[in-house]
Amino acid sequence: MRILVQKFGGTSVSTAENRRMVVEKISRAVAEGYQPVVVVSAMGRNGQPYATDTLIGVAREPFATVSRREMDLMMGCGEIISAVVMAATLQAAGLAAVVLTGGQAGILTDPQYGNARILNIDPSRIRAELKAGKIPVVCGFQGVTEDGDLTTLGRGGSDTTASALGAALSAEMIEIYTDVDGIMTADPRLVPHAHILDRITYAEVSQLAHQGAKVIHPRAVEFAMQKNIPLVVKSTFSDAPGTLITAAVESDQTCDSSVSDKVATGVTYVRKIAQIIVTRESAAKMAEDSRLFKTLAQSGINVDLINVLPGQVLFTVQEDETEETRRCLSAAGYTCTVVPNCAKVSVVGGGMGDVPGVMASFVEALTEQGIPLLQTVDAQTSISALIDGRFLETAVSSLHSQFGLD
Ligand code: ADP
Ligand code: MG
Repeated sequence: MRILVQKFGGTSVSTAENRRMVVEKISRAVAEGYQPVVVVSAMGRNGQPYATDTLIGVAREPFATVSRREMDLMMGCGEIISAVVMAATLQAAGLAAVVLTGGQAGILTDPQYGNARILNIDPSRIRAELKAGKIPVVCGFQGVTEDGDLTTLGRGGSDTTASALGAALSAEMIEIYTDVDGIMTADPRLVPHAHILDRITYAEVSQLAHQGAKVIHPRAVEFAMQKNIPLVVKSTFSDAPGTLITAAVESDQTCDSSVSDKVATGVTYVRKIAQIIVTRESAAKMAEDSRLFKTLAQSGINVDLINVLPGQVLFTVQEDETEETRRCLSAAGYTCTVVPNCAKVSVVGGGMGDVPGVMASFVEALTEQGIPLLQTVDAQTSISALIDGRFLETAVSSLHSQFGLD
């Protein structure tokens, strides 16, 4: 069996016209001798009737308190609707198809609703359907607990579904179809002249994804990497070859040599974060930086950009967790200042840590534009700064140019 996993994102399945293009991609795979396993996201973006955010609103607008378990059932509806419509579209085009929920596809997760982790995959049902000559259309984003409860895998989780199934089925390749021609040096919505990366490594794309490039989910990269299955990110709406992601980019390959040689692979960002400043007096009894972070961890709050300084402790949280953070800190006896509407901008690349002057160059690109740095963090493979969200577009563009990516 030559199995090919093909995942189609929200825009790709949003209209009848777009779904026709999806059918074309699937038919082509069949014609090339593959047995496709299709994974779909919910249809469209926020505002459209069956998009994930719309469904969340249906439950949450009238009722402030819907349990996480029930919210997962609600969110899971988007992929079910999408998969049924996609399978019917395939049937109408003469291709036998069958819809499987995440659970029916064998995806077992822990019960961490909203952000469940895959524990195991039993691909036997998918294999049986393939054997019967059908194209399984799997609802992305979903799993099931041991007790049979539906779970979801977190934002962008359909990528993870595709990649995890690809690994479990020892697929020949995993294709992630989206609305851009591949992984680019920056989000083209912010940097219109960003360019496609023809070939990159799992490590590089993993760094981009972890630092916010939402074109692919970080966990999706991990599954493909574990089994060394090539991952391709490409467009539903063009015939461009896309970005091929593998373990190593060999030097004799006709690839974008800039990718392996340059300091930077790309510029990424995360919007809608808040900076939290806890002063030392308020945390006077500190042997206590660890107590501070334990308190937050116990409330399930994710913190990032941590700087522990002599006078204060700085960190960031997602904007929608600001109130919970305040509540949790005040209950533990800390006082804090919140700086809302921040963004994190990062330059990502292989061996940045070893190249002298990279930080200076990074700071220069931002200060030349008059953008104050609220915080910076550097590591072996990335440098990040926290800035006022209003400067985000300028910051991303000027770093893109500063690091030779234009
Ligand atoms: P899908 O619904 O297909 O999963 P997403 O919206 O999750 O689509 O991801 C595709 C989008 O990711 C693109 O439209 C683009 O704006 C954004 N994006 C962010 N960073 C990058 C990047 N480095 N390269 C390509 N696209 C990016
Ligand atoms: Mg996505």
